[in-house]
Amino acid sequence: MVSIAIDGPAGAGKSTIARAASKELGYIYVDTGALYRSIGLYMIRHGISLQDAEAIAFNVENVQIELKFIQGEQRVFLGEEDVSDLIRTPEVSMAASAVSAVPKVRQFLLDLQKDMAKKNNVVMDGRDIGTVVLPNADVKIFLTASAEERAKRRCKELEEKGQAVSYQEVLTDIQQRDYNDSHREIAPLKQAEDAVLLDTSHLDLQQSIQALLDLVKNKLN
Ligand code: C5P
Repeated sequence: MVSIAIDGPAGAGKSTIARAASKELGYIYVDTGALYRSIGLYMIRHGISLQDAEAIAFNVENVQIELKFIQGEQRVFLGEEDVSDLIRTPEVSMAASAVSAVPKVRQFLLDLQKDMAKKNNVVMDGRDIGTVVLPNADVKIFLTASAEERAKRRCKELEEKGQAVSYQEVLTDIQQRDYNDSHREIAPLKQAEDAVLLDTSHLDLQQSIQALLDLVKNKLN
């Protein structure tokens, strides 16, 4: 099986770029952020404080989470419920960032992620795929862009979904999540030593997809 690990900060366009690249390659696209988001949603729904790491660790044991691929698209289920669309709000983004700092949560999701890569050719995106989840991935890419460029893109994406947002709020949110993700003790966001850096600040979507595919083809050939 072939594994392509894509890591990088929030809003770097990882999911859009990874999804398009996976289609081109005929691989499954696994968006691991959706797993952390779903656990965040579960904690919000159960009234568990996002500051209470112990309560999060205790409650994560009860989460029934599953990834399904419906017509090639990943859907994430909490129990019987498809929560794939519900987890795309700023509130759930912050909750995901909070639960992702709890070691028990990361441990809980590790096997699920490894298992996907054992059974399928995958393009997997996240924060610690190349460093922790798939240290032996065939290709590792660290995808990034400036915080301002990422905020601009995220605003556009949310506006297209009909969610009213302010640029300043989105930028602050991204900076806060970058800080949380790269300063947590366990599996912090950082470029793996053997990952290739791809900065998309000055590339449009099509150019970014092409740059990623070129890197992958170079490595695999
Ligand atoms: O990628 P996305 O923005 O959906 O991820 C939501 C949050 O989940 C991130 O801010 C990060 O805190 C966490 N995450 C993580 N490890 C991953 C994927 C996501 O800690 N592999």
